[in-house]
Amino acid sequence: MSDDAFLDRVLGHASHLLRGLARNDIPGLFVIQDGTYLYVNPRFAEMFGYTQAEVCDGTVGPRTLVAPEDWARVQAGIAERLSGRVLTGHYDFVGLKKDGTRFEVELFGTTTEIDGKPAIIGLLVDISVRFRAERKLQDQLRFVEQLIDTIPGPLSYKDEQGRYLGCNRAFEAMVGKSRDEFLGHTVHSITYRKVAEKMHTADQRLINNPGIEIYESQIPHIDGTTRDMMLYKATFNKADGSVGGLVTLMLDISERKLMEQRIWEEANYDSLTGLPNRRMFRNRLDEEIKRSRRSGLSCALLLVDLDRFKEVNDTLGHEMGDHLLVEAAKRITACVRESDSVARLGGDEFMVILPEITDPAGIGQVATHIIDALVKPFQLRGHAAYVSASVGVALFPEDAGDIDTLVSYADQAMYAAKEQGRSCFSYFTPALQERSRFRLEVANELRGALAANQLEVYYQPIIDLASGQVIKAEALLRWTHPTMGMVPPDRFIPIAEEVGLIHTIGDWVFQQAASAARRWQVEFGRDIQISVNKSPRQLVTGRTQETWIDYLRDIGLAPGLVCIEITEGLLMDSRPEVASKLLLFRDAGIQVSLDDFGTGYSAMSYLKKFDIDFLKIDKSFVRDLTTDTTDRAIAEAIIAMAHKLGLQVIAEGVETQEQRALLSDAGCNFAQGYLFARPMPLAAFEDFLCAADVQ
Ligand code: C2E
Ligand code: CA
Ligand code: CA
Repeated sequence: MSDDAFLDRVLGHASHLLRGLARNDIPGLFVIQDGTYLYVNPRFAEMFGYTQAEVCDGTVGPRTLVAPEDWARVQAGIAERLSGRVLTGHYDFVGLKKDGTRFEVELFGTTTEIDGKPAIIGLLVDISVRFRAERKLQDQLRFVEQLIDTIPGPLSYKDEQGRYLGCNRAFEAMVGKSRDEFLGHTVHSITYRKVAEKMHTADQRLINNPGIEIYESQIPHIDGTTRDMMLYKATFNKADGSVGGLVTLMLDISERKLMEQRIWEEANYDSLTGLPNRRMFRNRLDEEIKRSRRSGLSCALLLVDLDRFKEVNDTLGHEMGDHLLVEAAKRITACVRESDSVARLGGDEFMVILPEITDPAGIGQVATHIIDALVKPFQLRGHAAYVSASVGVALFPEDAGDIDTLVSYADQAMYAAKEQGRSCFSYFTPALQERSRFRLEVANELRGALAANQLEVYYQPIIDLASGQVIKAEALLRWTHPTMGMVPPDRFIPIAEEVGLIHTIGDWVFQQAASAARRWQVEFGRDIQISVNKSPRQLVTGRTQETWIDYLRDIGLAPGLVCIEITEGLLMDSRPEVASKLLLFRDAGIQVSLDDFGTGYSAMSYLKKFDIDFLKIDKSFVRDLTTDTTDRAIAEAIIAMAHKLGLQVIAEGVETQEQRALLSDAGCNFAQGYLFARPMPLAAFEDFLCAADVQ
């Protein structure tokens, strides 16, 4: 039965309904004609705060009951229905109560005819409670939307089928679409099929297994990049407790990842050359050793140390030094296979690991290759620089079974290569091991030597060539060990430097020597200038200069009667404290001798810069003076140049009268050597002084 047919059947009972409505408490009922209410039920009047009579006697019309802003609309509606064009109307408006309070009303009206004139009969419901609830809901919704917009990471939520229900602005920005384009659709509407399928599967897995999931993933961004994202996913439930869908929040962790990567690189790679650093090298060596254990094949460790790198650094500057290291790293890397590892341990030291050695001859070939590559000139911004390399080789498992020993053996082998004259390689051998054991023993013994009275200062006279008089002496240290016997200074001084004992020992030598010079003044009435050797290390790290100067004051020896002997290497040291310490001696009146001149760089310019007083021509020149014409020419040239620069010259290691005569002729000022006397103990030197006097 159609609606109309049905209504026709029951229309006869409509009056019951109307009567019921008029008396009910829910909708207000009204009949209006000619702008006045013919009838309103009690509920209608009560809704607006009037009595039924007040409304029906014409005092109150629709105009009074409708909020001014809604009046025009309501009036138009009434007119429209009364005109008969539209028969029913249904709308909301804001009602005005007698006391002025406003409330929301929903109206339904239909046109009818009363006494042959059009009238409207209608129902009115107070919807303010529902209205306010709706508005509150809307406010809450808007708040939630704004809230999720403040989240910096893309956030979206989908229903249980994976269709988007909502998202925040960051999400729109990421996908490059506005939400209207994809709400109601699945992830397929915003990204490539492959990516979408993967995401959808992951979502569905969580939907079927509700809870929280956090993981990292790479997510394509609309700008074409792929970002490392941390994904936080959580399912949410509907009112009935069933899974309603899931929320996904993504946080961009690309920067953190990049930083982590950088930190890792910094910790494992040398920033200058980009090679693995010591730490990474140890990890690799550890791996290779394990691999070697499994395969039974040896693994070789090559320690590559650049010779004369320090000179490049000192003369051309650290920046050029850095360039050279970068280039050296490239050259070394080019000499090895992909499977080999090259690392920089720091300074000018590189390590090469050659794993799985099948042909031992190959090790030597690689070492030679590296040495040849590094000996070629380096072009550093227009400057040519020359270095060479010394390589030490140690093998696992043949030489050592653990990393530390293996590295220390490669180191010993490298030093052996340096001693063999540099630019060569050396394998680790048990003899090297023996020598390094000896060094250790010497170092231990040396610690007790001073207290045990095993050290003694010897004195060697220095003769004025013009007068033949002893006017200076060099203090030379001697060590007599109870079992090792006489240990030459060339062997123990470097060890004393290495282990830091040189400061204590050097101070002691100085005090002995200065006291001796003072004694010669007092006891023999002789002003003999005493020369004391000073290792570079004493000047670089020590604080001896002040204590030495104080000591001279204490014993009453004029500083002019003291000379310190330094080597050229020290002058090449570019550290400013070296120069300032040297000048401190000079300012105190102590003289400075440049020892072993002719064996090193022999750079004249340094002599002026550091205000040196004496040059000591090395004994290697003096030795060949009478046989080698070149050496003679060099000696003569050095003397002439020194004089031009205002320096006096001392010849060292003079053993024959011939040498003495030649030096004398060349204008050399002083001489020292076995011809006159060997270094001797204090008492013997004093005897020598007296005897020389008698002559
Ligand atoms: P040096 O400073 O070049 O000392 C000169 C060396 O030549 C001494 O060796 C001396 O004994 C030796 N000599 C002297 N006349 C002749 C000669 O006519 N012919 C030959 N062939 N040699 C001669 P020594 O005493 O063995 O000292 C070796 C080196 O040890 C010294 O070389 C010096 O560098 C270092 N040294 C010695 N004593 C000290 C010290 O107290 N402190 C420091 N830092 N180094 C010292
Ligand atoms: Ca000397
Ligand atoms: Ca010397």
